[in-house]
Amino acid sequence: MTTEYQTQQKKVRLHNLGFPRIGNKRELKFALENYWKNDITEGQLLASAKQIRSNNWALQQTLDLVPVADFSLYDQVLDMSFMLGNLPHRIAHFNDSELDNYFRIARGRSANDSPCQCVHAGEMTKWFDTNYHYIVPEVTAETSFTLNSARILAQVAEAKAQGVNFKPVLIGPVTYLWLSKEKDTSNKLDLLDKLLPVYQTLLSELAQAGVEWVQIDEPVLVTELDSAWQDAVIEAYQALKSSPVKLLLATYFGTLGDNLTLSLNLPVAGIHYDAVRGKSALAHVIEALPADKILSLGVIDGRNIWKTDLTATLEYLQPIAAKLADRLWLAPSCSLLHVPVNLDNEVTVNKASLDAEILSWLAFAEQKLVELTVLGKALNNGINSVSNELAENQAAINSRRTSTRVHNPAVKAAVNSITNDLGKRLSGYTVRAAKQATHLPLPLYPTTTIGSFPQTKEIRQARLAFKKHNISASEYEAKMKAEIEYAIREQEKLGLDVLVHGEAERNDMVEYFGEQLQGYAFSQFGWVQSYGSRCVKPPILFGDISRPHPMTVAWTKYAQSLTTKPMKGMLTGPVTILNWSFVRDDQSRRDSCLQLALAVRQEVQDLEAAGVNVIQIDEAALREGLPLRQSEWQEYLNWAVESFRISANGVKDETQIHTHMCYSEFNDIIEAIAHMDADVITIETSRSDMELLDVFEKFAYPNQIGPGVYDIHSPNIPSPEQVTKLMLKAAERIPANRLWVNPDCGLKTRQWDEVLPALQNMVEAAKILRAVA
Ligand code: GLN
Ligand code: ZN
Repeated sequence: MTTEYQTQQKKVRLHNLGFPRIGNKRELKFALENYWKNDITEGQLLASAKQIRSNNWALQQTLDLVPVADFSLYDQVLDMSFMLGNLPHRIAHFNDSELDNYFRIARGRSANDSPCQCVHAGEMTKWFDTNYHYIVPEVTAETSFTLNSARILAQVAEAKAQGVNFKPVLIGPVTYLWLSKEKDTSNKLDLLDKLLPVYQTLLSELAQAGVEWVQIDEPVLVTELDSAWQDAVIEAYQALKSSPVKLLLATYFGTLGDNLTLSLNLPVAGIHYDAVRGKSALAHVIEALPADKILSLGVIDGRNIWKTDLTATLEYLQPIAAKLADRLWLAPSCSLLHVPVNLDNEVTVNKASLDAEILSWLAFAEQKLVELTVLGKALNNGINSVSNELAENQAAINSRRTSTRVHNPAVKAAVNSITNDLGKRLSGYTVRAAKQATHLPLPLYPTTTIGSFPQTKEIRQARLAFKKHNISASEYEAKMKAEIEYAIREQEKLGLDVLVHGEAERNDMVEYFGEQLQGYAFSQFGWVQSYGSRCVKPPILFGDISRPHPMTVAWTKYAQSLTTKPMKGMLTGPVTILNWSFVRDDQSRRDSCLQLALAVRQEVQDLEAAGVNVIQIDEAALREGLPLRQSEWQEYLNWAVESFRISANGVKDETQIHTHMCYSEFNDIIEAIAHMDADVITIETSRSDMELLDVFEKFAYPNQIGPGVYDIHSPNIPSPEQVTKLMLKAAERIPANRLWVNPDCGLKTRQWDEVLPALQNMVEAAKILRAVA
């Protein structure tokens, strides 16, 4: 290493844990999709990927260490599975390119697969409490590991050629196993002994390639680990202790809790700690840090898009820097994968919703690295060396802190005056159910759908044209009304009992509401990778939430005017709106959620006043908000369920409240679900063969349930017999007079020619069920 490198070592060093790999303009997304369509070759895809890596390193080159192998063509966990030679047998017989096999596991098929050599894709699940989804490694007692280091060594060579100082990033062995799923009855922890030698060889190969530091990610350390897993952590790092590289053990997404002493005493050269989410325990970490260890502090929020208060950060960092001297490193709290790439993209276009004021409050990945550099300069060269930057930052922080767009005293007062009564229905379920049965007579096994009907190309084109001012508001309205009318006529023909308007006018179930609420903003290019080539653009909840005008009433009223059948009003619930947004860091998630709850409550009451007797409030993302530590679940569930209740329960007994959740794990939250006290809950069940209802049965869930009878993700049309069979299974668990018949979820991703026969058969099944009841 050069002398310059050595002098730098005397100071606070700056590094990054990972950079978004989707590309500044989502280049990776488009390259992947073109490759899958056979529009570009493997060589072209790999060239695009290489270009993104190179750009990313160039963007980060002012740091002392940039991450390498944080890049992935689809998913970093799947990359690890390939590196460790842990591949499912079902792809073993394909001997075309490794890349094609990679995509087969990622998504069931690759390019060039025609006729389709489809295999079932690896299961996908959420990466800790983020909205990023990884491909779950599959293991059995027979699983063995063999090192395939070609990809990572190639990226190391690329980084060297580019002349950046770097550290490769790996997922640690314990986290890798923790994320895996046993496909038999074995215990995945038993695989650790087979796994560690592969890591040892890998680290040796990296050392041979000239690597000094390796970042080894063990976010599992911020979860609750039992003693077997804690022992596994100790065993793993004892085994890797003699590696010829220095290990920076990276933890993130929370405090270390009971794993603190364990983590700090592992035989590694350094540890990364999330000082944003783990701020409360930072003092303990500093105190307990062994004298020979580097401490990397994640001081810039890698999970959110707000500017860091640099002055406040420096205030708490200065004593730490004084104490640790050259043992202190600084970084974002976690990989920047979870934030959009570059805020400047928002500035250069004719911005619609992000005005200069809001822009001045934000920092995306690139801007966060600039913040990091300012912090580094302040600590290394003195505050005066960055006085302009700090002043500018402080002005932005103050502007946000004092803005009347952020702070609305009336909203704060409304939240402060929430009483227990607000969340309570006038009567208990039994009384309500009786009143509703009179007010809203329905047959046994009533049929309904979850809300959306196909978002056709015409609908999307009309919305785009409207946004671009190519058609007028009244033209757009007329088109949407025509779609609503079509959906209603089809539902009437089908003979469904409770109709929906079909959500034609909604781009997205959160964005639609966010756009109409005060306190929300939308970026144009704030894309964040959700999985593979898929990105989401989370809305930005920046201020106190109020509802200046009704959001759905006109559409729902129009829909109701077209039919004598009951029309179900359709809203997204406060918890889901919150969990799918970038949220404020200047107040608790609870407070933001309660504000949203009050806004949705007004909408519910306006719908009721407009004569809508059935109102569904979707809480698709309730589960997603669960904290990483189970000991913190109850606190979350308390305010989340209370928020739902506040939004839903300001209505007469006669008004029937529905909720919908599209997932299939209720075991550990059934009590909370029951406490939501919706008159009807519709859930995803078809793939679990109704076994999911066991927990509702065991809990003696008292209200009505619509267990989904077919999987809307599949184009397959269920037969009346299949639906009947499923519902009879349901009726073994839940009394028939509390069952509804409906699909698993909304139908917006399907075609009308799939939806109509499927619903036809569903309605047919309800008739059979009534006849045999
Ligand atoms: N009402 C929404 C729809 O039907 C619900 C979607 C969801 O739960 N994800 O599209
Ligand atoms: Zn759903």
